[in-house]
Amino acid sequence: MTSAVRTTCPYCGVGCGVLVTPAADGGAAIAGDPDHPANFGRLCSKGAALGETLGLAGRLLHPQIRRADGSGGWRTEPVEWGAALDHVAERFTGIMRQHGPESVALYVSGQLLTEDYYVANKLVKGYFGTANIDTNSRLCMSSAVAGHKRAFGEDVVPCSYADLEQADLVVLVGSNTAWCHPVAYQRIVAARERNPQARLVVIDPRRTPTCDLADLHLPLRAGTDVDLFNGLLAHLDGTGARDAAFVDARTRDAQAALEVARRGGGVEQVAQRCGLDAGKLAQFYALFAATPRVVTLFSQGVNQSSSGTDKVNAIINCHLLTGRIGKPGAGPFSITGQPNAMGGREVGGLANMLAAHLELGEPQHRRLVQAFWGSPRVADRPGLKAVELFEAIGQGRVKAVWIMATNPAVSLPDADRVREALRGCELVVLSDCMAGTDTARLAHVLLPAAAWGEKDGTVTNSERRISRQRAFRAAPGQARPDWWMVCELARRMGFAEGFAFRSAHEIFLEHARLSGWLNAGNGESAVGNRQSGTVFRAFNVEGLSDLSADQYERLEPVRWPVLRTAAGAASTVADSPFPIPGRMAFVPTPPRAPAHAPDAEYPHVLNSGRIRDQWHSMTRTGSAPRLAAHRPEPFVDIHPQDALEAGVRHGELARLSSRWGAMVARVRAGDEQRRGDLFVPIHWSDAFAADARAGALVNPAVDPVSGEPEFKHTPVRIEPFGVDWHGFVLHREPLDESAQLAAFAYWARSVGGGHHRYEFAARGRRIDWAAWARARLGGAGEWVDYADPGEGIYRAARLAAGKLQSCLFVSPRPDLPGREWLAGLFALERLGAAERRALLSGRPSAGADAGATVCACFAVGRRTLQRAIREQGCTTPRQLGQKLRAGTNCGSCLPELRRLIEETLAPAE
Ligand code: SF4
Repeated sequence: MTSAVRTTCPYCGVGCGVLVTPAADGGAAIAGDPDHPANFGRLCSKGAALGETLGLAGRLLHPQIRRADGSGGWRTEPVEWGAALDHVAERFTGIMRQHGPESVALYVSGQLLTEDYYVANKLVKGYFGTANIDTNSRLCMSSAVAGHKRAFGEDVVPCSYADLEQADLVVLVGSNTAWCHPVAYQRIVAARERNPQARLVVIDPRRTPTCDLADLHLPLRAGTDVDLFNGLLAHLDGTGARDAAFVDARTRDAQAALEVARRGGGVEQVAQRCGLDAGKLAQFYALFAATPRVVTLFSQGVNQSSSGTDKVNAIINCHLLTGRIGKPGAGPFSITGQPNAMGGREVGGLANMLAAHLELGEPQHRRLVQAFWGSPRVADRPGLKAVELFEAIGQGRVKAVWIMATNPAVSLPDADRVREALRGCELVVLSDCMAGTDTARLAHVLLPAAAWGEKDGTVTNSERRISRQRAFRAAPGQARPDWWMVCELARRMGFAEGFAFRSAHEIFLEHARLSGWLNAGNGESAVGNRQSGTVFRAFNVEGLSDLSADQYERLEPVRWPVLRTAAGAASTVADSPFPIPGRMAFVPTPPRAPAHAPDAEYPHVLNSGRIRDQWHSMTRTGSAPRLAAHRPEPFVDIHPQDALEAGVRHGELARLSSRWGAMVARVRAGDEQRRGDLFVPIHWSDAFAADARAGALVNPAVDPVSGEPEFKHTPVRIEPFGVDWHGFVLHREPLDESAQLAAFAYWARSVGGGHHRYEFAARGRRIDWAAWARARLGGAGEWVDYADPGEGIYRAARLAAGKLQSCLFVSPRPDLPGREWLAGLFALERLGAAERRALLSGRPSAGADAGATVCACFAVGRRTLQRAIREQGCTTPRQLGQKLRAGTNCGSCLPELRRLIEETLAPAE
């Protein structure tokens, strides 16, 4: 019997432990690790579907070099690793020799393991001598880093998930926790069930599924968070909630912050500027003031803003004034988007950091790191942050870039300009596990990277917990770990002595030793007070620096700091939830408007973010049928009144445009949005839809301190996307973009069980759909058709040996039947007579259609749930779970179940 491998989920910053039992066919059984302190056995829908993402379809398996073929195309040559790395080393060396170290850069990722990150940062900062290495974590949490450093002197997260359970008030700010960090949300929900007195407040312009159980939702005007928390700070001070002893002993600059906060006026004035009901805002302020145990959990809605760092500090200020920090159940808590954003921060993966929480701008820190590394040089000024980096590539200042494990052609703001920049770049190297990403199409050198399940190392989650990610299968083809590629490149560039690592374990030991190297220990303030020759860093894992290979293999999840005791043993400082012993700083935060205001031409505010069942640009989650079923198409959420005024209709297509770009998405009109606001998901790339990249619209404004882009506030316009035909194709094989999809004005693809699904829209009134179907979807078997030329309706299906091969449904209106029943027929070896009869109606002749998927784990559809609610008396999620199993596994769909019950039982108007 194969025993389970304990590893860590590769998606969000919750960092859940996963038990993987590999199967002989290359797949694996997935379960939550009951002993991991982040999740205690729970997984969300994405984690639970990890076993469906292990296939090799689309994997990059061999190094490739591409050269222009002279006629505008590429000539791709598969090459051996040696040739690929020699080529990259030669080009990087040549470009640096000619143009200096600032002419090259690495753009890395929160998907990397800490060991990958460590060697990449060491190579660039210690050997190239530039700090031009930045990470896609810049896009999600660099404002939190900057806020922590301003307040605490170091990037330290002062909370753990246990604090969420111990709090009597949890405030979620700019965080759709129920969808984006589902297991953390489930822990909050379970804690509330145990402690009915506990309160939950959500501060978010959108009414998200996270609001479902909230005692109070404050749908503030986008970008007014600083105003709201300044108002809270003034209120706390004015109502006696100040912890004077704490403020005096442990903080500085309270007065300056309070003076700025008081300028905002009273609750009425703040509420007016934030677009909130004054009574509800006052209720929140009173609740916060009266509750000693408060955790304020914040995420991208706070960070992704041109005033993101101020938002973070405005939140921290309130915790400092009340002394609600470093205590059980209290503190400001940044939850990260990516699995190892925190590990990247620990090794200096950001362009303005060094390594081991040391500062580029401090000569003493640079000397310390250079002496430890024994490197020929060390960068002496901050490098280019993500948005600046791609601007510099566009301007030709950076001439060679190695992109690791990320897809900036989709994910960066002003993404069309990023593409132009990469097209004009002398050398673009991409190491990734997938071959067909939007960025891969622009790369000159492709290096196949080992994927989750194939590589070893560590990650750090949002609560500072280091966990092992363990390989459970061999890397396919010639895929290699990222750290190996970096070390091989370094050797070829003449830096062999600093990169003689033979394993992730050896890299980890060096990283742990550096964290303790000349570290003043854990008894001194980070804000000043440094002994000569030593530098205090709260980040210290020296206690792990002697692990044998076997101990590293068996390493249990552990929160840092992990110090070395006098006796030489590791100490986890378990009683030190917040290892900042010195004074912490209030930061005055005068409110600032977002960088770009809506106007007559672009009257709406675009917000962008994640959805429940997809991850980043869908390179992995896009291959899991159960994850695709929840939201199979790009969409835009809009208030019904705005939809009416803009002339766009629920279920139809709309074009969104900004001063930077445009996209097309399916309209979802509903009351989740404030008037004037739109929301689009960030996940769709050119690999999954014709024209649905949110990044193309997003303005490139950044926070002046952190450099984090303003993904949550871009002025846009929305208008109907006029088409003549709406349709869908279900087909056993994937369709080819240039041969089969090119005729469509719009398409979006997703994967189902045994088939691929294409939603499309087309222009041109004279399309012969029967001919199109036979030419594009043809093959062995028989076609059955239904055509109503008067109504413009055409439906067809192809069967071979009684098995369904393809369906095509077309109409001039978006009134097509649901796809779920038809999709399910692809699982049948042979259609029965009843199914054949009903095939072209798109609905079963007997029984009922399940409707769109709500519960991904057990594939329970909306219509099935509605019937259970209406006809079988299921009026609670628990009853639905007992009847249909919906919501009983990962719990990610519970907010939607509650909403569906509410809607279904609401009296008809
Ligand atoms: Fe993975 Fe979900 Fe856990 Fe996040 S909450 S780490 S996506 S299982």
